[in-house]
Amino acid sequence: MRTSLIAGNWKMNGSLQSVNELIEGIRAADAVGAELVVCPPAVFLFKVGGMLDGSAVGLGAQNVCNHEAGAYTGEVSAAMLREAGCRYAIVGHSERRSLYGETDQLVAERFAMAVSGGIRPILCLGETLEQREQGVTEQVVAAQLDAVVDHCGIEAFAEAVIAYEPVWAIGTGKVATPEQAQAVHACIRALLEGRDAQVAAGIRILYGGSMNPGNAAELLAQADIDGGLIGGASLKAPDFLAIAQAVD
Ligand code: PEP
Repeated sequence: MRTSLIAGNWKMNGSLQSVNELIEGIRAADAVGAELVVCPPAVFLFKVGGMLDGSAVGLGAQNVCNHEAGAYTGEVSAAMLREAGCRYAIVGHSERRSLYGETDQLVAERFAMAVSGGIRPILCLGETLEQREQGVTEQVVAAQLDAVVDHCGIEAFAEAVIAYEPVWAIGTGKVATPEQAQAVHACIRALLEGRDAQVAAGIRILYGGSMNPGNAAELLAQADIDGGLIGGASLKAPDFLAIAQAVD
């Protein structure tokens, strides 16, 4: 039985004031049937970690360095994330891949460093609109996944999470249909099954891409959709919580 996970990717949004309001709104929620995680900008991690003390809501980072320590200006290590209270880190988000040139190899190295540092990676995979229209979605997602499995080994996925995020659905208001999303999720699980059946059965595969309170229930009802990675809608506590409630 997989516990659903609803993770909020705040991206580069917020201020001290809005972070306070958002966390207070999320903390005020009644228990929901899903695990909740928020991923604030790195500069707010310690603050949000403190505010979440004693709460069931977990903390995640938006990235993690592929090195342990040293001359890597602008990067944050897994050990630092642990000290800030992080349980999770997003790796391979499509914005990192497309805007900052993160390759499959770099994503795999970041994933490895998260795992060895005791942080659960949330590995993002997804195709562009052009790739979907060319009919190569499954090949693209398989290549992104294989790069990490080949580098880290399938055992590194025991505590990991995968997020299927079609690039054309991120921040665009265009959402994959439940059938489109389920097909790719089932494909990802089948690919993992080819490596290790136990890992495939236990891993949570989240959908991400314009998920909101209006479309969440149908997506989350799919057999292989185990939660959501939420961008825009995670910046409003009522919307984020409404998505979490849609798990039930
Ligand atoms: C994301 O950035 O991971 C995401 C899913 O964004 P949005 O929900 O805004 O499409």
